[in-house]
Amino acid sequence: MLSTLIYRSRLNPDVDSGELNQIVLSAQRNNEKISVTGILLFDGDYFFQILEGPYAEVNALFQDICQDSRHNTIVELMRDYAPMRRFGNLGMELFDLRHFKREFVLEAVLAKGTSKYNLTYDDRAFKFIRTFVEGRWRDQVQEISEAPGWQFIPENTPFTKLTGSTPVGQPCEFALQPIVEPLQYRISSLEALIRSPGGGAPAHYFASLAKDKLYEADLQSKAWALSLAKKIGLGNHMISINLLPMSLVMVPGAVEILLEQIACNGLVPEQVIVEVTEDEVISRFDEFETAIRQLRSAGISLAIDDFGSGFAGLSLLSRFQPEKIKIDRQIITDVHKNGVRQAIVQAIVKCCSSLEISVVAEGVEKPEEWCWLEAAGIRHFQGYLFARPELNGVSPIAWPRKNHVLK
Ligand code: C2E
Ligand code: MN
Ligand code: MN
Repeated sequence: MLSTLIYRSRLNPDVDSGELNQIVLSAQRNNEKISVTGILLFDGDYFFQILEGPYAEVNALFQDICQDSRHNTIVELMRDYAPMRRFGNLGMELFDLRHFKREFVLEAVLAKGTSKYNLTYDDRAFKFIRTFVEGRWRDQVQEISEAPGWQFIPENTPFTKLTGSTPVGQPCEFALQPIVEPLQYRISSLEALIRSPGGGAPAHYFASLAKDKLYEADLQSKAWALSLAKKIGLGNHMISINLLPMSLVMVPGAVEILLEQIACNGLVPEQVIVEVTEDEVISRFDEFETAIRQLRSAGISLAIDDFGSGFAGLSLLSRFQPEKIKIDRQIITDVHKNGVRQAIVQAIVKCCSSLEISVVAEGVEKPEEWCWLEAAGIRHFQGYLFARPELNGVSPIAWPRKNHVLK
């Protein structure tokens, strides 16, 4: 299985940085032998390295690096699985940032990329590169936005609305709700929320199922969610689907089934985000972890849903790091008025920033909540303030516009 490891370290001051080329040459020879590729950045003081290759080889190499006295203060930033190498052509190319104009480094790094889907600005690994190049990791200071004065003006979306009643034989339907980046006027993804035929709530739908069919029905229902995505004209947008963790564990071949559903609807795994909803303890964590690896290896993104409520908390985060965390609505509601929730949100933002995980605030209903959360550094939002879920379609989105100041 192809794994990725990213770390940052500081060059031991006793080592002459003039020796660097020699060090890199011998590393290149060694990496080629064990089929490890990647990229190495150096800013005169700190290293930043991406290692990619077979799981065991990458781990063993990193162990060696950790023992190497030329590196100080090694910080492991990311471990992940990917469908293909990001830098498949290189033994291990060195980018000495001191010899580059800053604005050209990212382009130069991107140009070395070999993976079609991964090496975009949304890719976690690339975000790490960018943060390192820009030196942003050194000071994680939050900007504070100016006082509010916003209007929310609904605008139609490019998606088609389906009409008519539930087709005979279809056991469920889906409502779609956008997750947005309001100041970019950008839709980050559409979340598919299950409904019983005619529009009943998820609890209603799940209550109608025999208990032993729950996980299978949950997984199989995604075929309808993905076919809805196709019918509304998802295009290049992302689609988020909800799954109980145990649906990935209990249904044999769950990931293969999901991949087939994705392909059947003309979508690619890179545009699918799986949200694991945590209302039960993950009792067979090893098997769950295997499913996660399979999902990541196929190119599917992961989100922890309802973070901060129930079982979706820090212990889960300590066991695997998703691309996205969705902060539970209970923490978001009235955050502008509640010091405890503010401290929790700031800690989550800080933690997710160190781990390059995107944060989504769920259940945003008030402009004041949104303004506070923007100031705290959150950029992705979901809630009635922007758009409600709509059965078989996407409702108009209320984008914020600055009020004109009257003098
Ligand atoms: P969720 O995944 O956290 O989805 C967001 C829920 O919050 C949705 O409720 C949505 O309608 C609601 N919501 C969104 N914005 C706001 C807001 O501003 N204020 C308020 N008060 N609520 C807001 P919904 O559709 O009833 O879904 C409830 C839960 O059911 C979902 O929570 C998810 O955990 C679960 N669910 C939905 N679809 C599926 C599915 O296909 N499989 C599984 N396993 N669970 C699903
Ligand atoms: Mn969800
Ligand atoms: Mn949620």
